[in-house]
Amino acid sequence: MSELVAIRRPSGGIPKDPRQNLRGLDHEELSAWVLANGMQRFRADQIFGWVHGKRAPSLEAMSDLSKADRARLAPLASLERLRVDLVAPAADGTRKLRLRTSDDQLIESVLIPNEGRGATLCISSQIGCALTCAFCATQTLGFRRNLATWEIVDQVYQAQDLMVAEAEERGETWPERLTNLVFMGMGEPLHNYNQVRRAIAILTHERGAALAGRRITVSSAGLVPAIERFGREGLGMEVGLAISLNATTDEVRDRVMPINTRWPIAELLRAVRAVPIHRRRWVTFEYVLLAGVNDSDADADRLAKLLVGLRAQVNVIPFNPHPHAPFQRPSPRRITTFVERCRDNGVHAYTRTPRGDDIGAACGQLALEGDLAQTA
Ligand code: SF4
Repeated sequence: MSELVAIRRPSGGIPKDPRQNLRGLDHEELSAWVLANGMQRFRADQIFGWVHGKRAPSLEAMSDLSKADRARLAPLASLERLRVDLVAPAADGTRKLRLRTSDDQLIESVLIPNEGRGATLCISSQIGCALTCAFCATQTLGFRRNLATWEIVDQVYQAQDLMVAEAEERGETWPERLTNLVFMGMGEPLHNYNQVRRAIAILTHERGAALAGRRITVSSAGLVPAIERFGREGLGMEVGLAISLNATTDEVRDRVMPINTRWPIAELLRAVRAVPIHRRRWVTFEYVLLAGVNDSDADADRLAKLLVGLRAQVNVIPFNPHPHAPFQRPSPRRITTFVERCRDNGVHAYTRTPRGDDIGAACGQLALEGDLAQTA
């Protein structure tokens, strides 16, 4: 029997600031905070709209707040943002944003154009990761800390600011639109559950960025208790759930994703099946295809059996080779055969073309390495 693998502990905590970062409170929390600080409740609507709807850079910009309220807020509130360290454009239009936190740590987000239909942003939820998936570059960083809510939310605003600046540079009036948001960057989002939950509430609020919940996907490597909580709290009705599966036997998954030694495949799928999902939604299973490891015909057959009865879509992601993992990408022929065999077995399987792999922005490659790129 395989040894149980510990979930790593963070080497640090979220930096403390006596001031409240207004980007990190959901609408309800902001209302309570405003009241507790001697202002009227309706101010919360105004402040929330300024911070999240209009992305106001300062308290001074919030022109419908009274001078007295702005003065009252000044020592209590912060509007601190991440700093853009680097924007790395890839040949296929993907941009990797490297962002610096107040404690001088780096995180990455990836903006991926959707051919004329807006863009998808892939954001991080932790610095490094507590898990140790063998194919993943992020895990080599260790687990530094969780991101604060405002650091999660600000990745979206940084990407939107970038799209505005790019449109201005092109002389266009309308920037590209952010249509989809995926929590698939650095870290295991459900391991930072509370901050991710709050960030979703903020980003989908009608007075804020107003992103559609149906266009948000949270991905998990298989933290079963957190998936159960996701289901209990009704998040499956609000946003999409993706599971990084990557193997069809416990023997292989234990090796590729050691979290499996705690919550093996059967337990994971039991938890996923119990999550109430919106009737129009499907659960996505990510399957990183590793040559000679999980790409056989027998794997395709087992995958179909595992997913029987689930409204599931499988994204087959040919492995993006990087120096941190000993795996290879299967041949194009093996990839096609695998996907076709899945389909013959009734699985809705699609091959995901790697995006941004020339800048280390493709799936599993986020590891903060410098690339030849333009500094923002
Ligand atoms: S694949 Fe995701 S969950 Fe696994 S180590 Fe990498 S960042 Fe963490």
